Amino acid sequence: MKIICVGRNYQKHIEELNNETPDEPVIFIKPDSALLRNNAPFFIPEFSNDVHYEVEIVVKIKKLGRHIPADFALDYIDSIALGIDFTARDKQSELKAKGLPWEKSKGFDHSAVISKFIPVPAHLESLEFRLEKNGEIVQRGNTSLMINSFAKLISHISEYFTLKIGDYIYTGTPEGVGPVKAGDRLKGFIEETLMFDFVVR
Ligand code: ZN
Repeated sequence: MKIICVGRNYQKHIEELNNETPDEPVIFIKPDSALLRNNAPFFIPEFSNDVHYEVEIVVKIKKLGRHIPADFALDYIDSIALGIDFTARDKQSELKAKGLPWEKSKGFDHSAVISKFIPVPAHLESLEFRLEKNGEIVQRGNTSLMINSFAKLISHISEYFTLKIGDYIYTGTPEGVGPVKAGDRLKGFIEETLMFDFVVR
């Protein structure tokens, strides 16, 4: 399976990082070795002093598809989850400044936290989600604020990468990203459902 991630999909997050608003979706891939499941602890990697959380709604793909028209794209979603796209921000800034690929800062081991999966809710496109760090809300998002909708993302991604059963798409983070340190506890919710709960070491 592969993990496809969307960057810059919420306007206020683009602004907080002083990035430009892209004219087409920003897409990158993480390897399957990036996955961190079952509320396992996250260990800060040695190469970074500034690992940031980015909470994101994740969709799981249920059928093979390429060149998927947006009108049919929602039929490809099996279920949804909540994830964190951990990012070594210092490493990413260094790579971006040199015009180099982001992979080391975004695709490192255990950088893709994934929760349990739940059925696709009827109001997928106005879904609230949030991240709590040590009991305080640090990120709050609503899928109605996505620049590119689920359908548009699936359609666009499938122009470049064949989607396969079991692939995950991380659909971008809202504003409020920030650093983690050893001892932090992260809890993620979709509406009032606790999706993950783990610690940073
Ligand atoms: Zn992200």
